[in-house]
Amino acid sequence: MAQAFIGPIALPAAGERATGRFTFAGDAGLEKYEWPYIAISGVSSGPVVLVTAGIHAAEYAGIEAAIRLGRSLHPHKVRGTLIVIPLLNRPGFYERSIYVNPEDGDNLNRLFPGDPKGKWGERFAHRLLTEIVTKCDHAIDLHGGDLVEDLVALVIYRETGNAALDARIKRMADAYGARWAVKSAPTGERPGMLYAVASRSGVAAMLAESGGRGLLIEEDVVRHVRGVTNILRTIGALEGEPEAVAPPRVVKSFDWLRSPVEGFFHCHVRVDQLVKQGDVVGDLVDLVGEPLATIIAPVGGVVLFLVTSPAIRKDGILLAIGAL
Ligand SMILES: [Zn+2]
Repeated sequence: MAQAFIGPIALPAAGERATGRFTFAGDAGLEKYEWPYIAISGVSSGPVVLVTAGIHAAEYAGIEAAIRLGRSLHPHKVRGTLIVIPLLNRPGFYERSIYVNPEDGDNLNRLFPGDPKGKWGERFAHRLLTEIVTKCDHAIDLHGGDLVEDLVALVIYRETGNAALDARIKRMADAYGARWAVKSAPTGERPGMLYAVASRSGVAAMLAESGGRGLLIEEDVVRHVRGVTNILRTIGALEGEPEAVAPPRVVKSFDWLRSPVEGFFHCHVRVDQLVKQGDVVGDLVDLVGEPLATIIAPVGGVVLFLVTSPAIRKDGILLAIGAL
């Protein structure tokens, strides 16, 4: 029998696991890199599920969780096909890039659906989306706070207007076990996120955030592993009864606060803290300590993430509040 592929990824025979590397042939810029993958072909039929991580290359809990899931799930217990790509931002990993990919200095998770004639990240986004992501029934993209970010675990998804698809996405997000969920776009950010464009393309897709600050904390890794395992059971991609977990509370908006000035940031809040509209959540001073700006919560809600580095450029992100 001819070997089965999903895009450039060679699948193993039924009941087996394969690890390997793939590239995007025919594009000299992309072909310089090989992306790691782990693929599992179940013995019984089921959905094709994609688990990705490391589109932000320093979000290590997600990368570690993806590797663990790929290596630990038993092929005889998988139903359908599971593909794990633990590190999407391959150029940025050993560079320890924050937010961006060093090939073009842009945030890979703002460039979907991409452009076959665009810059590196746009070409990568186009090939990943058309050759792999849209060949899957479900997609879970693992994130965390970046090297200079702390966050409380949350899930993010987008409603598409297709009721059946939206119900499938919500079931996945509810099964992860996070306390908070976001389904609105971040204020002031560009679109082009992988999970959002995948959903718009008909894939039941979501994003999960756990951990941050460049730390590999076991609890953060386990949260991702357990959350994805529960999603796989819930959607019938893995044997076993799903755990009953409380669904997350959906925030009303995702307000990203940016700095009006370049300066040294004192954050006055911590993640998961509840704030009221008008609360002072931080301040900025210059490099001899003169006050420059006071940061006020524009809405009441929960602090979902914050930047841990005090070095802030004008318009740089400071923190995000999920409105309640
Ligand atoms: Zn991220």
